Amino acid sequence: MTLSLNYSSKINKIRTFALSLVFIGFGVMYLGLLLKNIEWLMLIFFLLGMLCIVFSTVVYFWIGLLSTRAVQIVCPSCEKPTKILGRVDACMHCKQPLTLDKNLEGKEFDEKYNEKKYRNEINEKK
Ligand SMILES: [Zn+2]
Repeated sequence: MTLSLNYSSKINKIRTFALSLVFIGFGVMYLGLLLKNIEWLMLIFFLLGMLCIVFSTVVYFWIGLLSTRAVQIVCPSCEKPTKILGRVDACMHCKQPLTLDKNLEGKEFDEKYNEKKYRNEINEKK
């Protein structure tokens, strides 16, 4: 079984994404402030920043919805209660990969997640 140790819970990932969006939003609005000499550009940056923040709120609501749909189990590794989203997910506490369907193990762990992309986006804005 070759599973990545860097795999983290889907809910945690989405939460990180939502939090990143808030920072990106504020970053974009700050850029707008720097460009206050060009009024229309400042307005565009402010609008973009607002959109990011509004979108992150939507994502937070979405996490709430997902959490209610997730299957709650007790992690066999750290014995804490955690939630599984979809067929395969990782423990929220110890990042132990968990699955509800052993036939699907491996395949979904190859799924490409965008976490690194989000991080790059934050770095670009700084
Ligand atoms: Zn665990």
